[in-house]
Amino acid sequence: MTRELAKTLLRAAPIAVLQATLREMTAPLKKVLLGLIGAGIQQSLTPAMQEEEGRHHGLDVHYQLIDCNETGFTAAQLPALLQAAQHMGFAGVNVTHPFKQAVISLLDELSDEARLIGAVNTVVFQGGRKIGYNTDCPGFASAFLHSFATQPKSHAVQFGSGGAGAAVAHAALRSGVETLSLIDLDTARRDALVADLRGVYGSARIRVADDARDAVPAAQGIINATPMGMANYPGMAFDAALLRPDLWVAEIVYFPLETALLRAARNLGAPTMDGGGMAVGQAADAFDLFHQTTLAARADAARMSAHFRRMVTA
Ligand code: NAD
Repeated sequence: MTRELAKTLLRAAPIAVLQATLREMTAPLKKVLLGLIGAGIQQSLTPAMQEEEGRHHGLDVHYQLIDCNETGFTAAQLPALLQAAQHMGFAGVNVTHPFKQAVISLLDELSDEARLIGAVNTVVFQGGRKIGYNTDCPGFASAFLHSFATQPKSHAVQFGSGGAGAAVAHAALRSGVETLSLIDLDTARRDALVADLRGVYGSARIRVADDARDAVPAAQGIINATPMGMANYPGMAFDAALLRPDLWVAEIVYFPLETALLRAARNLGAPTMDGGGMAVGQAADAFDLFHQTTLAARADAARMSAHFRRMVTA
């Protein structure tokens, strides 16, 4: 190699690197279509979470809100809606209230967890098939295990047995809670969940509770899976006088992150967990499912959590 040629190559190398970097920076990101099907979801933070995490993985995610309160579709039109999303090339959709159960009969395949819980919050379109998952359950479980690793869990009381409540009850019973008492204003709904849970975990582990004043004093922890604490549902599901410094409190409401229940428990010095952990956990797991065939890397849950908490407190 002549001196002249070596000089040329040395001069050219940084330019080549620069060109490659510029090519990478200006290359169109891979487009991915995702969505959320539900009612009254205009304030959802899920689009921002999925789109931002996608950007970190070199994806241009467009996450569409498909809100029946805005466009007037009903459960009867759910099959056509799902089919349309599949034909338009969506990678998948999240599903929320009131369609988490209704969507099940429209799917080709269910994960074991979704079948067990009887609710789907994530549908992945893959190879022409619609596959349903439930990421609420592992989302709550990971936050719960992280927050209360060392807390006693022989008996907990859960308020609320709706769609999210079912996933949370399964998660609690699979994450160390030995006995779970369920309270709900809608006793038929509570009894249906109690029957389901007893079928899976055995009768001895699930109790029916009617009055917080009887159930809470015997418990080591509380789970709130009612909407109480949200702006539209101020207050809490039971009398704050029942809280104790040794009674851990798991909240799933995340808007606001600090509910009246959490504030009261924290004022007593009780161990607490807010609803943000579950919200981020379910979104991170859904991200991994949506992109499982196209991305080697998984969602960065800590990064998603920081982003989520910035948005909630903004
Ligand atoms: P849902 O309406 O299906 O069920 C709520 C249940 O709570 C109902 O059965 C209702 O009868 C019961 N309830 C209401 N007030 C009560 C009270 N004072 N005492 C006892 N029971 C009471 O709602 P859902 O889909 O189960 O969601 C519940 C809440 O969970 C939502 O409002 C939302 O804030 C939160 N959520 C959080 C996440 C998360 O990722 N953190 C995910 C889903 C839902």
